[in-house]
Amino acid sequence: MDYSELADWQKRAADWARDYHAGLRDRPVRPDIAPGDFLARIEAPVPEAPEPIEAIFDDFTRLVPDAMTHWQHPRFFAYFPANAAPASMLAEQLANAMSAQAMLWQTAPAANEMEDLVIRWLRDALGLPADFTGTIHDSATTATFSAVTTMRELALSHQGITKGLSGAPRLRIYASAQTHSSVDKAVRLSGIGQDNLVKVPTIPDHPTWSMDADALEAMIRADIQAGMKPAGVVLCVGGTSIGACDDIGACIKVAHSHGLTVHVDAAWAGSAMICEEFRALWAGIEAADSIVFNPHKWLGAQFDCAVQFLRDPAPQIGAMGLRPEYLKTQGGDEVVNYNEWTLPLGRRFRALKLWFLLRSEGLSGLRTRIRNHVAWANDAARAIAALPGFAITTPPILSLFTFRFKDDEATATLLDRVNRDGRIYLTQTSHQGQFVIRVTVGQFACTRDDVMMIPTILSEMSQGL
Ligand SMILES: *Cc1c(COP(=O)(O)O)cnc(C)c1O
Repeated sequence: MDYSELADWQKRAADWARDYHAGLRDRPVRPDIAPGDFLARIEAPVPEAPEPIEAIFDDFTRLVPDAMTHWQHPRFFAYFPANAAPASMLAEQLANAMSAQAMLWQTAPAANEMEDLVIRWLRDALGLPADFTGTIHDSATTATFSAVTTMRELALSHQGITKGLSGAPRLRIYASAQTHSSVDKAVRLSGIGQDNLVKVPTIPDHPTWSMDADALEAMIRADIQAGMKPAGVVLCVGGTSIGACDDIGACIKVAHSHGLTVHVDAAWAGSAMICEEFRALWAGIEAADSIVFNPHKWLGAQFDCAVQFLRDPAPQIGAMGLRPEYLKTQGGDEVVNYNEWTLPLGRRFRALKLWFLLRSEGLSGLRTRIRNHVAWANDAARAIAALPGFAITTPPILSLFTFRFKDDEATATLLDRVNRDGRIYLTQTSHQGQFVIRVTVGQFACTRDDVMMIPTILSEMSQGL
């Protein structure tokens, strides 16, 4: 295949994508296949001779879609949404055509300066103060890893990056048990170690399962007494399991009184903060040092796209940045080279899809979708609560809630039945030792009817259980 053929094939790919999207409601959300089934269909020796693109394309349409879980399906209510608004997909196609490396200003000036603009747009859209700046990562995991590594270096006066951690004081990071496993991964890989991630208890009966700020204070003091060195606090807004939100204002106050940096993980819920009425869930956020949210979840930027806001980028650049001779930019220090803010050197042109998304949907369009999702999740939760044998275990926080049917065993059997049926897709979590089913409403393509199929299908599938 050469470049002269590309446009024709891209048109065919676009036609295929149109039909794929139009037909999603008729597909099961999850494929009915067992591990290894798909591989058995494509297993072959590495190709020695070139094959016509026609054959490869046909194999794709024949084999791949039926073996995929359809994240753009309007009745995908599992995990978290991964919306890809059409404008963001189009932007990806254009970025793909240029396939530039946005590692330095001079390797992709437009990508670099557009990143600056869309970060400010999003900062303002979320109601954050004007002194936040930021950058785009691939994932929240990378952003949280960067934030925790920065906490390590601040605590070690930037000696860890050169001298390593042997002989260094024992560092401590604090988070509630509701934070995402990406925080555990960050402490493991930053060399701080899992045993030094202190899980601070949540307040019993708190409406959003906040970390107990008094317990945080006591645990920091106890660690200092024991000769350890507190390094930072990771808070959550919209935890993945049940949507837990820490009392950001109270916890930051404790952290800052000990000189500790605070990173807030709002990977899923951050998108909702474009709506002023939801900002009470992160009251006090203006004092955070670092915040991550994923426009690739609820906001509609095609995967992947994680935004990290930073009050002061200098400590993170100090921890993550390296400038060997071959990466020096002529023109000196006035330009921002975003690779110094992040883990990988090579960077995709992700700002383009945010620029397309925000302009084509407008904040008003995005707000309407998010408000609908929250309202419909509440409607669905009420309908489920009214079904015999069902109980809401955690009420909706934004558009995420959990429920149970009778006991653990019946709930697990029901979940399996529902997902085998394929019309909707739900996943599970554990809450207070119980097996519960999660519902997250957030697909751009979903309607209220799609959401209200959840109680209908649950009622049907629970018969005889
Ligand atoms: C999804 C999610 C993550 C992980 O995000 P990635 O971008 O996949 O790394 C982390 N924290 C929370 C709260 C999430 O919802």
